[in-house]
Amino acid sequence: MNVYDSLVNIAGKDRVSESQADLYLYSRDSGAQPPGHADYVVLPKTVEEVQKIVLLASSRNVPITPLGGGLALSALVVPQSGGIVLDMKRMDQILEVDEMNRYALIEAGVSQGTLREYLKRNHPRLQHSTPEAPPAATVTGNVLIHGHGHISPRYGLNSDMIGGMEVVLPSGEISRIGSCALDKKWFTKGPMPDLAGLFVGWYGTTGIVTKLSIKLFPKPKFREVIAFKTDDIDLLPDAIFEVMYLDMVEDFFLIMQEKPDWMNHAFLVVIVAGHFKEEIELKKRVYKNLFKEFGGKKSIEFVEELHPALEKRFLDVPPLAALAADFRKGGGFQYTGAILPVDKVPAAWRKGIEIAHKYTMICSYVHQVLLGNSVMFGFNYSFNRADKQDIEKTRMALEDSNRVTLELGGMIWKGEKAAQKLVLEQMDPNTAELIKRVKGLLDPKGIMNPGNWDVV
Ligand SMILES: Cc1cc2nc3c(=O)[nH]c(=O)nc-3n(C[C@H](O)[C@H](O)[C@H](O)COP(=O)(O)OP(=O)(O)OC[C@H]3O[C@@H](n4cnc5c(N)ncnc54)[C@H](O)[C@@H]3O)c2cc1C
Repeated sequence: MNVYDSLVNIAGKDRVSESQADLYLYSRDSGAQPPGHADYVVLPKTVEEVQKIVLLASSRNVPITPLGGGLALSALVVPQSGGIVLDMKRMDQILEVDEMNRYALIEAGVSQGTLREYLKRNHPRLQHSTPEAPPAATVTGNVLIHGHGHISPRYGLNSDMIGGMEVVLPSGEISRIGSCALDKKWFTKGPMPDLAGLFVGWYGTTGIVTKLSIKLFPKPKFREVIAFKTDDIDLLPDAIFEVMYLDMVEDFFLIMQEKPDWMNHAFLVVIVAGHFKEEIELKKRVYKNLFKEFGGKKSIEFVEELHPALEKRFLDVPPLAALAADFRKGGGFQYTGAILPVDKVPAAWRKGIEIAHKYTMICSYVHQVLLGNSVMFGFNYSFNRADKQDIEKTRMALEDSNRVTLELGGMIWKGEKAAQKLVLEQMDPNTAELIKRVKGLLDPKGIMNPGNWDVV
């Protein structure tokens, strides 16, 4: 039986396609990377179906590319060597919310929007860390790329919030990770060898995650935004240090855009949250005082009247800070997410402006401060998808940004194939060898999202 008929046997005709029209969509994403080529798409509904599909792919040596929302933007879900796209969106059940033990157990295709709305309706005192990505992004896809959400400055990366996982290995076996391997509760992934690390950050090259337990956090009743602005970017590391040192923010991001003119400053956007009104007032007062005489001169200014539209935008969960996504016509958007040490922010800021101007683009930044010791520094580029030259320019700008990130001692987050190559070139050879061995052990046939983390 051919691969298509075998897939239909497993998942039924309605959830399998080899039509060119469908495959066109599954062969690209909305970032600036070249399209790939998918031969089949299948949307499994159960873990048993995933197992059968993986076994089929393995027996025929057909590549598999797992896909969540497909919104990582760096072609991580674009098949590089053809084969099957495993679209997880039909595995969309929220299986359990354990309020007392503060976790949600979900299937891998549950979207950010679905979980958010479900919690709002049924568990209004709890929240999960929500990225600014479109709501169709999956919670699992985000966790698997070390994503970050609206409470990450306070609680850490979303990949730190894993309570357990169920994974289908490339051999077709099912593995459970964390307390769920011992008992019914999915409340912690430790203390035991951290097997989640075999799947997080690997871009689907080591297995298919089918279930995820994600931690939930208190949802304070009150939230407010206060904003500051400065033109002295050398003050930013100290400002970030001091804001985070006080340990009172829920979210904290920096934004700047060269256009319109009023946005052409470094804005520090601080979200404070609390269960009591007095708590909020105290936090606001403390932060306003902090910057009053910052650095011996009045160079970080409190934004007295934040436009109500912006206030709402920043307070929304997720906030809509990445204005750049719609800045130019054509709908294309990709960014180098540089995880940088805080002290490198000014150097990256200057380099980013240089790169944007080199490629005749308008510079636009959104950075989120993560736990106080690092920043997700976004070198953002929007482009016209109908304009080949514009796309080429964007690719070059991304490459320059990736190089700058590494030169500054930063890490490239969710990098495209070319970025992964740069990282591997710079990596300690023993570390690269270990990556190769782990991949080889779990996926000896090399069928899992080939082209990613390719150690040669
Ligand atoms: C405007 C905009 C704003 C954004 N803001 C943020 C932000 O604030 N924070 C943030 O973290 N991200 C952000 N992103 C990036 C990205 O959209 C998110 O991280 C998103 O959550 C990724 O999830 P996804 O479901 O789209 O993953 P996908 O792109 O589908 O997948 C990501 C990777 O995981 C693999 N994968 C997916 N599902 C599985 C599975 N079940 N098993 C094994 N491997 C799997 C894929 O093969 C791929 O390698 C933003 C994107 C945009 C467009």
